[in-house]
Amino acid sequence: MNAKYICPKCRNSVNVGNQILLTGKTETGLKGLVLLSGELGDYNSAFSEDFTIVEGNKVKFTCPICHGSLSSRKHKNLAQLIQVDSENNEIKVFFSEIYGEKCTYEVFDKQLKRTFGDHKNTYRPDWIVENL
Ligand SMILES: [Zn+2]
Repeated sequence: MNAKYICPKCRNSVNVGNQILLTGKTETGLKGLVLLSGELGDYNSAFSEDFTIVEGNKVKFTCPICHGSLSSRKHKNLAQLIQVDSENNEIKVFFSEIYGEKCTYEVFDKQLKRTFGDHKNTYRPDWIVENL
């Protein structure tokens, strides 16, 4: 079964099958749709036509339903979603808003559960947990 991802603000699900659909905006004001893989550690992504993102660009993610910001208040380069597993546990998932930066942190019950990606050491995970 695919994991369900919900927006921390409106709690509607933002995944379609195994993909996560978000809206995003670059620092230059470009806006578009972003598809991310719902499989943590898979950094394949796709962007809507004319939403041209190159490595190193920052995309501020928003919820496509409530338009609330998904940017983590705790760290300026991370966004946050909630993953709901088959037992209805809610796991916080943090990921980078910098395109090309491959790092994902799963936090459950104030503990770091799993980390993913080549750049997972970019952000100190204990920092994330301490400041929840
Ligand atoms: Zn929302």
